[in-house]
Formats: sequence, structure tokens, C-alpha cells
Amino acid sequence: MLNYFSRFLVAFPVNFYGAIEMVGENGQIVYWLNDSLYLNITNRCSNRCYFCFRHYWNGIAGFKLKLRNEPSSEEVIEDLRQHVSRRRWKEVVFCGFGEPTIRLNCIIEVTEWIKCYHPYLKVRLNTNGHGLLLNPERDVVAELKKSGVEAVSISLNGHDEDTYNRVCMPVFNDAYKSVLRFIREAKNASLDTEVTVVRIPEVDIKRIQDLASNLGVKFRVRELISCFY
Ligand code: SF4
Repeated sequence: MLNYFSRFLVAFPVNFYGAIEMVGENGQIVYWLNDSLYLNITNRCSNRCYFCFRHYWNGIAGFKLKLRNEPSSEEVIEDLRQHVSRRRWKEVVFCGFGEPTIRLNCIIEVTEWIKCYHPYLKVRLNTNGHGLLLNPERDVVAELKKSGVEAVSISLNGHDEDTYNRVCMPVFNDAYKSVLRFIREAKNASLDTEVTVVRIPEVDIKRIQDLASNLGVKFRVRELISCFY
């Protein structure tokens, strides 16, 4: 099953998002917005949200984020090394034109490097919450925590399973339940956990806010710039 999805996910950006194909120079790995440094480690995603920013833009704030090739952990670290000392960043965030937990090893290796050489820097993961389905053989949340990831922002664009499936069109049948499980596991592991939702008409924001409250995690509404949360 994993092999099936792995093949799907590799092909996904081309099959479903023709515009994601690179024709010019490679996209940016490290980019920044305000005082946060962002890491764009993949363009693959296990959702196909109808509102996805990647349908309409090549990047954000002048940074091109469409990758010709996914960078190795070493390449991410090398690029990070060039930028990490430019100012006092508030945090480093795994967040780009795809779902970072598709590359769990890369997240872990880069986070370990950050915690070794810049331990004061907070590391946050922005995720669609599919990490458990994407890495079924692994203890994903425990590994993230052990590497030094301190915070996770999990997007939940659906107040119930049916809405989630219509809006996000996940490649996994049971994605919604797994996102909820990911949120619970992150909270139980004492990660600084927040649920985020994009303001779109299909979603009952109050119900997701209540759900976050019941789960005991933070909640944040994002305006419609879908990949940057
Ligand atoms: S909005 Fe985020 S989760 Fe949805 S398809 Fe785009 S990258 Fe994936």
C-alpha cells in the first residue's frame, strides 16, 4: 500500500498540478516572511485542496517555490547555513509547496542540525496531518519530538469527514480520522500544537474551533493563502 501511495505521490504534482512542473531555475529551499525562516523541502502533497495556492502562484513574496528536484538534507542544511545568521529569527518552519512529512527523515536530520548548532531557534512543522498515514511503520510524533521539533500547526479544512474529503480530496480514504489522531498524539507528546483552518465557505469555523478546544489545543484561522500557515 505504501508503495502504491509513494508512486502516486511522486507523480502527483505533475498529474494533478501541471503548473508545478519546473521550466526555469530551481525553486527556493529557504525563504523568509517577516521574522520566520521557512524550509521548502518538497512539492508533493497527499491532499489536493481545491483552494491550494500552488494552482495560482509560483511562490510567495518574490520567492519561487516550485522545485525541479527535492533537496537532500545536506542541501537544505547548506542553504540554511547561508541564511540562519542573517538576523535573529523567531522560528524555523517546515512549510512550502507540499507536505513536509512525506520527507520525515529530512525533517528529522535538518532539525537535529538546527538544535545542534542553533539550539535557541524554535522549530515548527506546518502539516496537513497525514504524517501517520505517510509513515505507517514509524512512531512519527515521537521521532519529531526527539529530533527537537517543538511546535506543530495542523491544517484541518473540514468540520467533518465529508466536508474534509470534498475540500481537501486526500489520497487516503481515512485521512480525516488520522489527522485527528495526529493532533491528539502531538498534544500528548507535549508539542506546542495548534489546529489551523482556512476561511472558506464550505467550512464551519466555529465547529473546528470547538473541536480544537475539546482536544485541548490552540486554534487559528488563516485567510486564504493556503500553503502559508
Ligand atoms: S493547500 Fe497545503 S495541504 Fe492542501 S494541497 Fe496545497 S500544499 Fe497540500
